[in-house]
Amino acid sequence: MTRHAGGTLAPPTRFQVPPRIIGSNRAAAVWQSARIVEIRRETPRASTFRFAVPGWAGHLPGQHLMLRLTAADGYTAQRHYSIASPPDDSGHIELTLDHVEGGEVSGWFHRVARPGDSVEVRGPLSGFFAWPGDRPALLLGAGSGVVPLMSMVRSHRLRRPAVPVRLLVSARTPRDLIYANEYGDETTLVFTRAAPPGTRPGRLSAAHLDPWLAQPPDGGWEAYVCGSNSFAEHASRLLTELGQPVDRIRVERFG
Ligand SMILES: Cc1cc2nc3c(=O)[nH]c(=O)nc-3n(C[C@H](O)[C@H](O)[C@H](O)COP(=O)(O)OP(=O)(O)OC[C@H]3O[C@@H](n4cnc5c(N)ncnc54)[C@H](O)[C@@H]3O)c2cc1C
Repeated sequence: MTRHAGGTLAPPTRFQVPPRIIGSNRAAAVWQSARIVEIRRETPRASTFRFAVPGWAGHLPGQHLMLRLTAADGYTAQRHYSIASPPDDSGHIELTLDHVEGGEVSGWFHRVARPGDSVEVRGPLSGFFAWPGDRPALLLGAGSGVVPLMSMVRSHRLRRPAVPVRLLVSARTPRDLIYANEYGDETTLVFTRAAPPGTRPGRLSAAHLDPWLAQPPDGGWEAYVCGSNSFAEHASRLLTELGQPVDRIRVERFG
């Protein structure tokens, strides 16, 4: 069992394992039970939570769900979380959560939750940010914005469609890089505050994207941008300046 160190972040909240799980396991509109079966540390501030969701209806890479915690007095808190795992029929899904300072729900996950606990989820939600796997995908993510993009990359690796996928991940430092051991040839890493020895930190720039946009694949790129508001605006502006059609840029903001 993985437990997360306390530090100065949110104290344990009053959420408990929900006393009663409501609804059937079928439709995305219905709450269903999700039991934590594994917790994996990704970075000092982010962990992946693997859930058993026996009735999960399936999802497309890039989709998210609504998660609900319920306290003993009936108080509830709901938040959106992107699905990190690729679509499969395992009956499990994975979420990767940043520990937001003072955060009610992320604080519970990082300081209280343990394998065996159950929460409620409803989904999958939003087809807008989904990648069906049938067109070239250019993926730009910062921080935990990489989560839905990793679902796309994992799905691409599993299914090996003929279309290319390219991923650009921006992180503050190498220690903040989520999924650090999973990146392959499709990925470019950008570190904004501190970079590995021999490289310099810097912001995402046109120079990173130009090689991909100067020679787009057949049919052009479908661009997916995910992260904070400032990253989403910066990345979208760069893409349009480099010729990516505005109606082929999909943006999801976490902040
Ligand atoms: C579609 C969608 C998908 C998302 N997917 C993910 C995901 O995969 N992983 C993930 O970690 N988060 C994700 N989020 C963000 C998530 O929904 C919550 O906002 C986040 O976990 C904070 O919730 P909390 O209850 O811990 O903090 P709260 O109690 O809601 O907020 C505590 C304090 O932190 C600030 N704050 C809230 N959210 C953020 C944030 N994201 N960054 C910085 N400060 C914040 C608030 O303004 C407040 O001051 C997603 C959001 C959306 C809309």
